[in-house]
Amino acid sequence: IKKIGVLTSGGDAPGMNAAVSAVIKAAYAKNIEVYIVRDGYKGLVNNWLEKVDINFSQDIISRGGTAIGSARLPEFKEVEVREKAVANLKNAGIEALVVIGGDGSYMGAQRLTEMGINCIGLPGTIDNDIVSSDYTIGFDTALNTVMESIEKIRDTMQSHNRCAVVEVMGNRCGDLALYAGTVTGAEVISTSEGQLSEEEIVNEVARLSKLGKRSVIIVISEKIYDANELAKKIEAASGYVTRATILGHTQRGGTPTAMDRYLAITSAIYAVDQLVAGKGGLYVGLDGQQLIARDINSTLNIPRKDRTQELTTIRLLNSQFKK
Ligand code: ATP
Repeated sequence: IKKIGVLTSGGDAPGMNAAVSAVIKAAYAKNIEVYIVRDGYKGLVNNWLEKVDINFSQDIISRGGTAIGSARLPEFKEVEVREKAVANLKNAGIEALVVIGGDGSYMGAQRLTEMGINCIGLPGTIDNDIVSSDYTIGFDTALNTVMESIEKIRDTMQSHNRCAVVEVMGNRCGDLALYAGTVTGAEVISTSEGQLSEEEIVNEVARLSKLGKRSVIIVISEKIYDANELAKKIEAASGYVTRATILGHTQRGGTPTAMDRYLAITSAIYAVDQLVAGKGGLYVGLDGQQLIARDINSTLNIPRKDRTQELTTIRLLNSQFKK
C-alpha cells in the first residue's frame, strides 16, 4: 500500500485532530503517502484531496474541532454519488481510507469498502454512542466541559437559592448526562434511556425545596423535554427561581483531554496497521484496555450498554438530604 486518505465525518469531536496527526505519523513511518480529505465524504465526492507531509501532523495534535473539516452528505447513501468518490480516489492512486466519525460514517466506510476502497473507522464522537467501544474520541473532553459548566451554574444557584435545569447534548445517548450528573452530584438526572416524567421531576424538586435545600441541579439529556417549559413548571411547583441552560455546542469544542488524545492516537496507529495488513470494513473500538477491530456490519447490531442500574443507584444517592 502506497497512498492512503484520512477524513473526519459527522459531528466533530475533540481529539479528531490527534487521530489525523497519528494517521500521518504512522503512515509516514511506513513510507505511505497521506492525503487529507477536506469536509468528509463531501470532499471525496468533490475531489478535495490534498497530499500532506509529516509537518502537517505536528501542530494539530492539541487542537479542538477538526482541522480538515467535517460535513454531512446524505446523498452519499446513493451509489452513483459514491462512484464519483471512488473514481476520485482511484485517479489519485489512493487505495485505502481512515474514516473518523460516528456510526453513520461507518456505513459510508462499509459501502466504500464494498466498492474496492478498504476503510477502517475510528470512533470520533462526543456522544459515546458507539456500542462496541467503551469510550469514543471526544467523550472525555465533552464530559469535562459539561462538568465545569454545571459547577459554574451550581455556584450561582447556591448563592441565590435557585434551581437549574441543565440540558446536555448526547444525540439520544444518555452517557454524557449520566456521567456529568454523577460527577457533579446533580440531585436529579434524567437521560434518554432513563427518562423521568416531568411530574416526577417537579415533585422531586418540590420535596427538596420543602426540606430547605439551598440549590438544586437537574441534568437532562437533549431532545426529551423543552428545558425552558420544564423550568417554568418546576418554579411554579417548588418556589425556587428556576433557570434552564442549554449547553449546546460549547460541548463540542475545546482542547482535547489527555485521555481523548491517547485513545485517538493509539487507535489511529492501530487503524493504519489494519490497512497495511490489507483489511477493510472494520472499525476500531476500545474493549476494556484493549483496542479491537470489529466488522462494521456486525457492530451496528450490538445492543447499547444498559446503564439503568448505575442511573438508579446515583439517583438514590444524590437525592438524599437532611432537613
Ligand atoms: P455523529 O454521531 O457525531 O453525528 P455520524 O457519523 O453518525 O456522527 P451521520 O450524519 O449519521 O453522522 O453520518 C455522517 C455521514 O456518513 C452522512 O452525512 C453520510 O454522508 C454518511 N452516511 C451515513 N449513513 C450512510 C449510509 N447508510 N450509506 C452511506 N453513507 C452514509
